[in-house]
Amino acid sequence: MKREDNDGNGEMKGSKPDRGRVEVAVEECKGCGLCVEACPVGVMRLGEGFNSHGYHPAEYTGTGCTGCGVCFFACPEPGAITVLRLTMNR
Ligand code: SF4
Ligand code: SF4
Repeated sequence: MKREDNDGNGEMKGSKPDRGRVEVAVEECKGCGLCVEACPVGVMRLGEGFNSHGYHPAEYTGTGCTGCGVCFFACPEPGAITVLRLTMNR
C-alpha cells in the first residue's frame, strides 16, 4: 500500500474526510468480486464496462473508503488494487 497526503481536495463523506482511496488496474482485474464482498463498508463494486480480457473490472464508488486495506489483501491478482491511505495536513 502507498501513503499520501490529503491536500484538502480528497473525497468527502458528510463532514468527515475519507481516510483512503482505491485505484484498480483495470487490465489486471479478473472481475472475481472478492474485493466487493470483502469491503467492510461496501464501497467497491464491479463496473459495467469490460476490460480487454472480457471481465467487468472492480471500481471504487468514490466515497467512504477507510483505507483499511481489506480489499488489497482479498484480491488474488497482484497489482490489481492499490490502496492509498490519506492523511490530513496540519
Ligand atoms: S481499503 Fe477498505 S474501505 Fe477502502 S475500498 Fe478497500 S476494503 Fe473498502
Ligand atoms: S478482488 Fe481483484 S481481481 Fe477480483 S474483482 Fe477485485 S480487483 Fe478485480
